[in-house]
Amino acid sequence: LPRIVVAGNGQLGQMLQQAAAPLQLEVMPVDPNADVQLDLRADDVITVEIEHWSDSVSGLQLKQHPNFRNAEALYAVIDRQRQKALLDRLQVPTSPWVSLEDGDLSAQLESVADKVIVKRRRGGYDGRGQWRWQQGDQPEAEWAGECIAEAMIPFSHEVSLVGARNAAGEKVFYPLTRNWHENGILRASVANLPVPAEQQADAEAWLGRIMDDEDYIGVMAMECFVVDGKLLVNELAPRVHNSGHWTQEGSAISQFQLHLRALADLPLITPPVDGVSVMYNLLGRDWKPEWLQVPGVHVHWYGKEIRPGRKVGHVNICRADVASLIDSLQALQAMVDEADKVVFDWSIAQLQ
Ligand code: ATP
Ligand code: MG
Ligand code: MG
Repeated sequence: LPRIVVAGNGQLGQMLQQAAAPLQLEVMPVDPNADVQLDLRADDVITVEIEHWSDSVSGLQLKQHPNFRNAEALYAVIDRQRQKALLDRLQVPTSPWVSLEDGDLSAQLESVADKVIVKRRRGGYDGRGQWRWQQGDQPEAEWAGECIAEAMIPFSHEVSLVGARNAAGEKVFYPLTRNWHENGILRASVANLPVPAEQQADAEAWLGRIMDDEDYIGVMAMECFVVDGKLLVNELAPRVHNSGHWTQEGSAISQFQLHLRALADLPLITPPVDGVSVMYNLLGRDWKPEWLQVPGVHVHWYGKEIRPGRKVGHVNICRADVASLIDSLQALQAMVDEADKVVFDWSIAQLQ
């Protein structure tokens, strides 16, 4: 099996490494911003857990390796303007948008909708690099050339699809996951709720079309808004994704193992998902050993320093059925920080 080198050494690389351990598959996360010569082998396979890095010595070496995967997809996705254009070209429904250029910004913004969200083309995550604008507001001059503007969507909820494709073009998907974002940051996900068959089918067809078009190998995630029961794509992530973390214990094949299977050309089969799961992000919060008393609770701690709002870990709560999951959620809710109790109210409401 090839060694898998991961550009980026955050928690996603760490979790890829954990998933590789049972197979003794070697996963080596590296810092793509470092100015050091990496000891890469000709048969290494290079993947990413972040989308942006500098033209440092390591960064260039990774990009120029013959087995650097998904260069085309990364090019298309890391710039929101190109990503939106890709969705339009493949006739994947997405919110109306324009690219903001020099000139009358208010007129450009108004041409999209009365209420818009301005997003920096590159580098944004967890809702950073975004501004809300509505008619009458003063636009910022620096948005021109740097940002797109898209219509504010009055969604009923948000879902995401995580899927994978291998070199032979085979594709597999998890069930749609329901997500709650607050201030642009994912607070929690609920997986394996009953979903209208049409939504699952649409999402799989679109993500499949995108991965085929880009000749993509590995896991890709697609975030969607649900509006009047129909899906509208928000954005793509060309990597394993926070909304897929529940698969670590909620499926016999986690998204991390699925990504590695696709990259190492191991059999790609539809991941079995039997029970129901909730994923709860630890945002600037420590965990407590007593949580592990609750059936179905699995703590994933990233080993980072705790800072306000920073993603430092997550908790998966996985049970065989909805009633048991609600029991576990209520038990855990009694033990978490006061400010996080609302996460459990939301999760339980989705299950009822
Ligand atoms: P991520 O960490 O997922 O990469 P991001 O910084 O790329 O986040 P987006 O996914 O574009 O940001 O937006 C973050 C959240 O803001 C969305 O999940 C959604 O809740 C809200 N949002 C973004 N775009 C829109 C929109 N057009 N209409 C309504 N809400 C939106
Ligand atoms: Mg994003
Ligand atoms: Mg997002």
